[in-house]
Amino acid sequence: MNTNLSRRSFFGLAAAATAAAAMPILTEPELARAQRARIIREFPPGAVRIDANENPLGPCSGACAVMSSLLPEGGRYDDDLTVRLIRTFSAMEGLKPEYIRVYAGSSEPLHYTALALTSKERSLVIADPSYEAPMYAAKYSGANIVKVPLAQDYSHDVKAMVAADPNAGVLYICNPNNPTGTVTSRSDIEYALENKPKGSILLVDEAYIHFTDATPSLDLVKADKDLIVLRTFSKIYGMAGLRCGMAIARPDLLAKIQPYGTNFLPILGIAAATSSLQVPELVPERRKINTDIRNETFSWLTANNYKFIPSQTNCFMLDAGRPGKNVVEAMAAKNVFIGRTWPIWPNYVRITVGTRSEMATFQQAWKEVMNAPASASEPTRHGSPTLALGTRDLPPGMQRLS
Ligand code: PLP
Repeated sequence: MNTNLSRRSFFGLAAAATAAAAMPILTEPELARAQRARIIREFPPGAVRIDANENPLGPCSGACAVMSSLLPEGGRYDDDLTVRLIRTFSAMEGLKPEYIRVYAGSSEPLHYTALALTSKERSLVIADPSYEAPMYAAKYSGANIVKVPLAQDYSHDVKAMVAADPNAGVLYICNPNNPTGTVTSRSDIEYALENKPKGSILLVDEAYIHFTDATPSLDLVKADKDLIVLRTFSKIYGMAGLRCGMAIARPDLLAKIQPYGTNFLPILGIAAATSSLQVPELVPERRKINTDIRNETFSWLTANNYKFIPSQTNCFMLDAGRPGKNVVEAMAAKNVFIGRTWPIWPNYVRITVGTRSEMATFQQAWKEVMNAPASASEPTRHGSPTLALGTRDLPPGMQRLS
């Protein structure tokens, strides 16, 4: 054995392990939990949970029935269920089955794409603000991360994104965007595909697409373009805890991300996903429920002179007019858990659209916090005045973000 080489590879591995321990790839629930863990150990009874873009409706009744009947089969590696899900989705969307790969949520293919297609030489280009998970994965690859502020209408500034780095590996387009809930037009996505740096791909994350009228990008996959589209059952389908998502792309692109991880899929999540797809009224009904409650909330905010960014999804950015982190704590003291801030807009907090009654509680608490002097929402040394800090509850390896 070449000792130098083995020693070098040992230290290389050790360095990678240290980097991994220092910076895990965080996803939405972990980011929400990291924020919460500054304030509480676990949700108090009656907490309003609008901090993680979950769907309070949960899985539809058909999906619940299918899961109950499947429970006794939990001892089996039943992969026919995955075959059935792919068959159902491919028939619905007119896609060849080999263009669809199922995962336990869309986080996995999101991370794998960044890990596989960014590197020290090939950067990640991402809008700012946008969903952070691809940045954590690209950091792990040692990639340069190029943040491009959203355009004035809060869509992705695709012209700036394609020009941002000639050595880009992945251009991440979250459509609609988390956290703003804003849409990037079809013509912009086509522009990005036509003008992106040579050898790069577009990663189009459609986690929230069902809440909007935005044009999906699946037909561009069908046309064999250089993009990977992500879908999840965590949002409109209300299955975040059940875990089912998909990467949809040309088979050669799917093959590039495959070595980064495969695992047997949770049978309940997979069966619930197939069952949900078979309910044609599910998406329009849930979209209407979310749109109505969101618009009622926007009317109230407007009537009370609070500034927000109009969104088309189940989350929106709200201007607190003071450091958002402090307001998060002041709201938590009223048992209303709102979403995080992004460094580019420190005075804005993200709000998830909850049920009508949750949004009524949110409105009351928001008004009280905004009417209190700003100093009242400054954090004390020991956290918020009424809730104890739960710093020990961060998941293993997770760092404090501030
Ligand atoms: N993409 C976006 C934009 C998200 O907001 C989330 C979660 O909130 C995900 C992907 C990952 O979702 P999941 O792994 O639950 O499918």
